[in-house]
Amino acid sequence: MTRLLYQGVAGEIDASNQAMNLGAPGLASETWESEPTSQSSLDQDPKLREECGVMAIYGHPDAARQVYLGLYALQHRGQESAGIASADGQHLANIKGMGLVSEIFTDDVLAKLPGSMSIGHTRYSTTGDSALLNAQPIRVDSVKGLIAIAHNGNLVNLGNIRARLERDGAYFQTTSDSEIIVQLIAHSQAGTLVDAIADSLSQVEGAFSIVMMTRDRIFAARDPRGFRPLSMGRIKNADGPDTIVFASESCAFDLLRAKFERDVLPGELVMVTEDGVTSRQYASGAPQSSCVFEHVYFARPDSRIFGRWVQESRDQMGRQLARESGVPADFVVPVPDSGVTAALGYAEEAGIPFRFGLIRNHYVGRTFIEPEQRVRDFGVRLKLNPVHNLLEGKRVVLIDDSIIRGTTSRKIVRMVRGAGAKEVHLRISCPPTVSPCFYGVDTPSKRDLIAANKSIEEIRQYIEADSLAYLSLDGLLKCCQGETHTGYCTACYTGIYPTQWVDADEILPTSVSV
Ligand code: SF4
Repeated sequence: MTRLLYQGVAGEIDASNQAMNLGAPGLASETWESEPTSQSSLDQDPKLREECGVMAIYGHPDAARQVYLGLYALQHRGQESAGIASADGQHLANIKGMGLVSEIFTDDVLAKLPGSMSIGHTRYSTTGDSALLNAQPIRVDSVKGLIAIAHNGNLVNLGNIRARLERDGAYFQTTSDSEIIVQLIAHSQAGTLVDAIADSLSQVEGAFSIVMMTRDRIFAARDPRGFRPLSMGRIKNADGPDTIVFASESCAFDLLRAKFERDVLPGELVMVTEDGVTSRQYASGAPQSSCVFEHVYFARPDSRIFGRWVQESRDQMGRQLARESGVPADFVVPVPDSGVTAALGYAEEAGIPFRFGLIRNHYVGRTFIEPEQRVRDFGVRLKLNPVHNLLEGKRVVLIDDSIIRGTTSRKIVRMVRGAGAKEVHLRISCPPTVSPCFYGVDTPSKRDLIAANKSIEEIRQYIEADSLAYLSLDGLLKCCQGETHTGYCTACYTGIYPTQWVDADEILPTSVSV
């Protein structure tokens, strides 16, 4: 969320010293035969990372604790920092910390967040900008009053807006995209707060699902293309008005016993006050570009996003993969955890037994995102371990959801073969990742994406699999549609971006030899 993207210039603001760094990003290693040597967190955990989850609640006597429960369910969307703000009609309190939601928000801390309204945020950021400074919600005291904001996504036209706001006297406390939205609200000429929010949102481009709070109101909005999910739910109260809830994913409603009501629409701004829920369409006309990778990997299978259950999409991806590129085998083995649902679909469609041939250690997670950790050489072996007696002498179809640099896939294939598998066939439940994301997913630049630099046969040779196949783009889109007519962003598979502004340096051709 803190990368600032400029057309043609790779610019980042270092959160620790506020200095603008306009240098080109470091080049990748010269060949794919060497392991990545940078200290980036992507090397430590090669999965792509979502950058945020948001949550909001209006009209609950213990609102902050409800937001805590929701954030707990959204923890997969970001594990580095979390924050909760609450309001009681008079005051607006805000507490943020580094770490997991359950580590920061003890009973004592939650007791300092009174009120019937609350918003919350859980965040992942790259190692260099993981400062508490940029944790959210961000609270800004402006001429329009106190505003707290929590944001999921990435804005892409920040450079000009920030410069203009600074010329107009804005003083930025953070390097976060989200503060730009608040500063735009504060500097808007619109007469009412809701008009100022609509005015501000219509000036920014990119991905944002946001929740905002003043002392007595909650707002929720999605960008006009609907990149990131945001759902609205309701808790029926027998003795008073309903409690209204917003969350990045509907799985957050279940712990609260809230009922899913609907998605916040692309370009919609919803306001909740003591008079009830009102909504306006602040922007229209942009084609929907919801992130298809939410269905492939990020969102939890027990969530319903973009009008479709994630579990259904992943099951269909596995089935489609079996139809498109089935291969004779003894077992279908998922790369846990994200490959599990697609592997079940594949196994059922292909009529091949499903087995947990790789076991994941669930307790190593955060060790790998500590900047100074010393055990990274263990890499994949620390997280995954093969079941030797199951794999020995068998033909195995491995199902995973992506290949980013290729180094992790190669280690997993070697691990399965090392456990005695006779054949290892890798199947990926989405198309090759050939271009970086600018909309809230932390991807390496194009030069570091193996599929942007090698053919599928070259990747197969590199990862040492007996065969390799990806799901087709048409197949993926079919799997994510169901009864819905959702328009999806597929830029990381096609290089065709739905917005005009991208960071040109990130999409330069490869500099590695292939
Ligand atoms: S580029 Fe890929 S990861 Fe990013 S929003 Fe589009 S589909 Fe999602």
